[in-house]
Amino acid sequence: MTTEFDLIARYFTRPTPQAVLGIGDDAALVTPGGGMELAISTDTLVEGTHFFDDADPRLLGWKCLAVNISDMAAMGAEPKFATLALSLPAVHESWLAQFSEGFFECAQRYGVDLIGGDTTRGPLSVTVTILGEVPRGNALRRSGARVNDDIWISGQLGNAALGLAALQGKIAKEGLESCITALHTPQPRPELGFALRNRATAAIDISDGLLADLGHILERSGVGADVKFDQIPRSSVLAAHMNSDLGRFCVLSGGEDYELCFTASARIEPQILEISDKLKLRLTRIGKISAQKGLRLLDGQGKPMTVDFTGYDHFAQP
Ligand code: ADP
Ligand code: MG
Repeated sequence: MTTEFDLIARYFTRPTPQAVLGIGDDAALVTPGGGMELAISTDTLVEGTHFFDDADPRLLGWKCLAVNISDMAAMGAEPKFATLALSLPAVHESWLAQFSEGFFECAQRYGVDLIGGDTTRGPLSVTVTILGEVPRGNALRRSGARVNDDIWISGQLGNAALGLAALQGKIAKEGLESCITALHTPQPRPELGFALRNRATAAIDISDGLLADLGHILERSGVGADVKFDQIPRSSVLAAHMNSDLGRFCVLSGGEDYELCFTASARIEPQILEISDKLKLRLTRIGKISAQKGLRLLDGQGKPMTVDFTGYDHFAQP
């Protein structure tokens, strides 16, 4: 008979060079680096809510870790350790093999050691807790945006949401392969997070859509923003959908892009463009922080645009 311990040994036990003690005891042990703070975050993916019941296990393995690494990126922290709590309706070894392959692909890419977890029977859900390190006092927070700061976005927005719309059958899938890939294999931006330490005044990762997530920065910082809709970076695939509500929704509120939105003084624009060059990552200025509270969206003529959708909220009442 295969026991829980066999499964953990077979699929989840890999070398943990950064830890004092990894999987196998009652707790893992790690030594934080001198002068470092630990950044700790948890994200859960639940079948039916975050992924379809026929989700590809390898992609799910990648994504459950990637979304957590994205939170480290948004703090300017280096992701180092993760724990994995798995709830499984039944043991399918081929599912576990593929899931762990995807998980460790992501772990290796971003230098994360899996140091523990929990395995239980129940509805399929995957919870990852991540630990990262950031030099004391250097974490990027949501609360530091100042009036007249520029607002920046990494990469492009809206692709993941357009991919999801295709999978949900709202639009045809043809030509949307890159969007579906963006949905399934987000590429978090920790290298950008490090580069923004001591430069960005505030940062957040875009998991719930630009309007919602930039909204969190504004609220925490006690400021407002003027954002130029036309400047929001989007793929050519998405540009073809800009006349539809769906296209605009994807760019503004779609979520799951896992890009970073950050604010910085206009004086350091050259430094930001240098970071963009060095990381070969597009960074686009989309607007400015203002003393007037609220988020104002402006069209190509500078006129206010109204939209009647915001970000994803699990508990929002209609
Ligand atoms: P305990 O009963 O003391 O909570 P467990 O039997 O749940 O311990 O786990 C044994 C060891 O295996 C622990 O080190 C735990 O962190 C690890 N572990 C359990 N499930 C997983 C998993 N899905 N991924 C990684 N490590 C796991
Ligand atoms: Mg346990």
